[in-house]
Amino acid sequence: MKLITIIIPCYNEEDVLPALYQQLNEVTQSIDNYKFEYLFVNDGSKDMTLDTLRVYKEQDARVRYIDLSRNFGKEIGMLAGMDYAAGDAVIVMDADLQHPPNKIIEMIDWWEKGYDDVYTVRLNREGSFLTKATSTLYYWLVQKMTEEKVYPNSGDFRLLDRKCVDALTSMREIERYTKGMYSWIGFKKKELTYTEEKRVAGETKWQLSQLVKLAVDGITSYSTVPLRISSIIGIVISLIAFVFLLIEIIKIFIQGPQVAGYGTLLVGILFMGGIQLISLGIIGEYLSRIFVETKDRPPYLINEISDEDD
Ligand code: UDP
Ligand code: MG
Repeated sequence: MKLITIIIPCYNEEDVLPALYQQLNEVTQSIDNYKFEYLFVNDGSKDMTLDTLRVYKEQDARVRYIDLSRNFGKEIGMLAGMDYAAGDAVIVMDADLQHPPNKIIEMIDWWEKGYDDVYTVRLNREGSFLTKATSTLYYWLVQKMTEEKVYPNSGDFRLLDRKCVDALTSMREIERYTKGMYSWIGFKKKELTYTEEKRVAGETKWQLSQLVKLAVDGITSYSTVPLRISSIIGIVISLIAFVFLLIEIIKIFIQGPQVAGYGTLLVGILFMGGIQLISLGIIGEYLSRIFVETKDRPPYLINEISDEDD
């Protein structure tokens, strides 16, 4: 019998775990011919998440958990889950039931039909016009800048064959942008759609600063285009400056020396200063990535694994 691991990264999810656990049970009971394993990754929760997981583990042999030493973020949490997943296939889903568990049935069907990466695309997106617009703009930008196709609105709710899991866990970079990695690894992909429910309980764990970081990571880890942008801007501005210089020289010959023009001088200097700072910032983004990766630290540390003793 094939084993399917359901990986659930959890950060302060005590309120939703009971509902999730119950719904997962309902779905997995309706599926024959497969064994399931629920692998919870406790990502440094400060509430009773870990205690809840311990209780489930006591009464249910399918439950396993990994307790990370602190909060490492969802991307790293998923990596930890994949590292320890035993399944022939892995399903990654959020704890808050925004990913409907009954989609699992359909995902497994497609896996059986030979697809290695069955991913889901969210049809609706909660949020204001502003969040929707920025997210559309962001995906458009990323797509323009990267070679790999990034699927907008495709979240982390997906089924991955063992091949994909092994590929993803072999990529040990710390500043992970898993969305880009899914498309980088390739393999046979199948798209499903789902409508996202509201979080059943608790609050979203994302802060604006984390979102900005993820967005910047998304661009800088898969694209060197920003580095090129700064050199292109530099060349264009130098050319313009050169043309102006020629004009000024010609003017001196025709009209004699001039003293006016402090304003334009100031604007020019400020403008150039700004461009230089932007370019430095872009280089800094990449440099900091190199810095983080060359330290070669483990991506996460584990405090406790549920099945350490067996
Ligand atoms: N999560 C995590 N570590 C974090 C933040 C979030 O493991 O630092 C988990 C969280 O418990 C949930 C999933 O990632 O299972 C998605 O988080 P959330 O629902 O808060 O994000 P949203 O749905 O708002 O994008
Ligand atoms: Mg959510």
